[in-house]
Amino acid sequence: MALTDQTSELPNQPEQIRTGPLTDRFGRRHTYLRVSVTDRCNLRCQYCMPAEGIEWTPRKDLLTYEEIVRIVRVLAGEGVNKVRITGGEPTVRKDIETLIAQVAAVSGIEEVAMTTNGTTLPKMAQRYRDAGLKTLNVSIDSLQPERFKQITRTDKMDTVLAGIESALAAGFAPLKINVVSMKGVNDDETADFVAFAKDRPINVRFIEFMPFEGNEWSQGKMFSYRDMLDAVMQRFEIEPLPHRPSEVAKDFKIVGGQGTVSFITSMTEDFCSDCNRIRLTATGDFKPCLFMLPNVSVRDRIRAGGEDQAILDALQESLAGKWEGHPGPQQLIRLKNASMIQIGG
Ligand code: SF4
Repeated sequence: MALTDQTSELPNQPEQIRTGPLTDRFGRRHTYLRVSVTDRCNLRCQYCMPAEGIEWTPRKDLLTYEEIVRIVRVLAGEGVNKVRITGGEPTVRKDIETLIAQVAAVSGIEEVAMTTNGTTLPKMAQRYRDAGLKTLNVSIDSLQPERFKQITRTDKMDTVLAGIESALAAGFAPLKINVVSMKGVNDDETADFVAFAKDRPINVRFIEFMPFEGNEWSQGKMFSYRDMLDAVMQRFEIEPLPHRPSEVAKDFKIVGGQGTVSFITSMTEDFCSDCNRIRLTATGDFKPCLFMLPNVSVRDRIRAGGEDQAILDALQESLAGKWEGHPGPQQLIRLKNASMIQIGG
């Protein structure tokens, strides 16, 4: 599949300095694979999906579980040790717990994580846990019913809250709660989310609003890391926790509580120099960066009868096009990219 290379957008491309298939031209080793399993979702969040919706991908074009597990096995053989399952909403794909179990069983995979909107958790949290899911992130952008409805264009807040309780009961600790912070939308709930996390094994993660196709990003909607910190510190005392290598979040302990707070500062203080992540889209393309277009189809190579080496070659070709870091928001809004729902965050 011919896919666009965006590296021409940026200057200062060095000569190749690789030391293996997981390493890019800038010496970054990619040990964290994010696998989108579907572009479908049962919510319609405004920042994620254009109002007019998207055209769902036909089933035959999606990677099968067997294909995904094969790709994971080959990459794990080179050093990939963490896999995150994303969507769309990954739990709308049938029997997702089967995929969780199969990926968790791959030799070398130390952590299987999943990001979900939480709607299936009331019934399924324990089954995901039993299948081998180690880390769970639940996305929820408001704790106010009317606002939740407005943001998600659905009426499922109680289900998501019940799902969070089920996930805690199933032993996901810390349970990660993802909040995309937007000025004029939910910035006034920042401290409420911290209160929600304070006395429980919850890590609330505030994510700066990022520009994607159709999500009407603007500088005015940006609630920055500094803004978030101010909002939290008006009601809570927090203390920084040590930074972990390749961890994108800035982590803080809530003084006097059990919970923690993190900030994902993609727009104001990026963490690209440390990037260890590669994405696999639901249709089987490697996507070297959240903001870059998918650039190599591993699915087509597998379906053409490619050996395992073809998977590694596809990864290397994809990483060869990876930039050193994403450009600023004004450039990002002009770039062609997919909607968040097609990327999986
Ligand atoms: S923006 Fe791209 S390069 Fe930067 S951390 Fe995210 S995925 Fe990595």
